[in-house]
Amino acid sequence: MPATSITDLRLRSDRLLDRFLRYVRLDTAADPQSQTYPSSAKQLVLGKLLADELTAMGIEGVELTCDGLVIATVPATIAGDVPVVAAVAHLDTSPEAPSDSVHPQVIENYAGGDIALPNGAVIAVANCVELEQMVGDTLITTDGTTLLGGDDKAGVAIIMEAAHTLMEHPEIPHGPLRVVMTCDEEIGHGTDKVDLTQLAATVAYTIDGGGRGQIDVETFSADAVTVTFTGHNIHPAIAKDRMVNSTRAAARFVESLPIASETPETTEGRDGFIHVHDIHGGVGATRVELILRSFDTEQLAQYAHRVQQLAEAAAADISGTRVQCAVRKQYRNLREGLERLPEAVSLAERAFSNIGVSCTREIVRGGTDGSQLTEKGLPTPNLSSGQHNIHSVLEFANLNEMCDATKHLIELLRLWGEKRS
Ligand SMILES: [Zn+2]
Repeated sequence: MPATSITDLRLRSDRLLDRFLRYVRLDTAADPQSQTYPSSAKQLVLGKLLADELTAMGIEGVELTCDGLVIATVPATIAGDVPVVAAVAHLDTSPEAPSDSVHPQVIENYAGGDIALPNGAVIAVANCVELEQMVGDTLITTDGTTLLGGDDKAGVAIIMEAAHTLMEHPEIPHGPLRVVMTCDEEIGHGTDKVDLTQLAATVAYTIDGGGRGQIDVETFSADAVTVTFTGHNIHPAIAKDRMVNSTRAAARFVESLPIASETPETTEGRDGFIHVHDIHGGVGATRVELILRSFDTEQLAQYAHRVQQLAEAAAADISGTRVQCAVRKQYRNLREGLERLPEAVSLAERAFSNIGVSCTREIVRGGTDGSQLTEKGLPTPNLSSGQHNIHSVLEFANLNEMCDATKHLIELLRLWGEKRS
């Protein structure tokens, strides 16, 4: 059989859509307060479904690990020592927006203009200018009450469809594709249970980026801080000179943090920030959660130092309050690791060119599983997957972009196959 050229390959976009809808209907929110792995048992439900689907495609030895990861290998169709390429997506969704009972809405042949969702919420073109480029495309939104979970079920669906297409087209010459579905990426634990020795991959790609044709070559470096103020609770009737109200110190602390700059709301591009995102507590104790982000890893220590100073000043203002700051490392900028394997990016660019999609190198104001994998020694850029407005009830995905991403992954695998030694 002659080798199918990527431009002739007909993708099953209907099957890709069905797949995506099936996956987003399953709630897989990560739970940042959980002590288990994965942090929520519901991630295992999607993992089991994917493992069954991969097996049904004819892939042997599909593994659903005890930690909830799905690992499978689409075998090579060419002989020789060919680099193993891993494609990585995460099963969990963000806990930052509601995610139970996702009701996906499919808009075929999008006519342009604002999109009214069933609950009355509106995705406005003014706030989402990329919509202007999507007239005629198939979009998937929610009913306005939940996130969609396209972050990262778009990536999950793209990898699954690429695997299925490859299994159906043994005439496409390629090396092994390692399918890797991870858990708890949204809470910074996406690669905790990934065994790089077991993967034995030369390169990996996370399929977890926005839009189309973007190759993310840098991510933030990231730490998290928990600031705990401890007071003393006692019945208000007998509280005189005895009660120490930790909520007051916490409020003072939050008020003292940067607000006109160095916040997510006031920064873009290469600027970093200190972001307070959760306050929980009462008179006796109040916990304030922050995240620190910068493209420059050394700046994180400066941010942490400032947070500590401001927390101590707030505690000193409210007599009797004690404070504790705990800094946790989350992930690091993937730039330095990628410099060790320039083909990780250059072949991705060539694959886009071969499928007729223009591409750009981007920096991502966030982290991906790839930030951590690269740090552990596996170069892992992040690729577009048609996600938009993520972590929001206004989230949507673009099926046309997802189709291009699926084609790109197949072509990228073929190009790596030419690197056989
Ligand atoms: Zn993601």
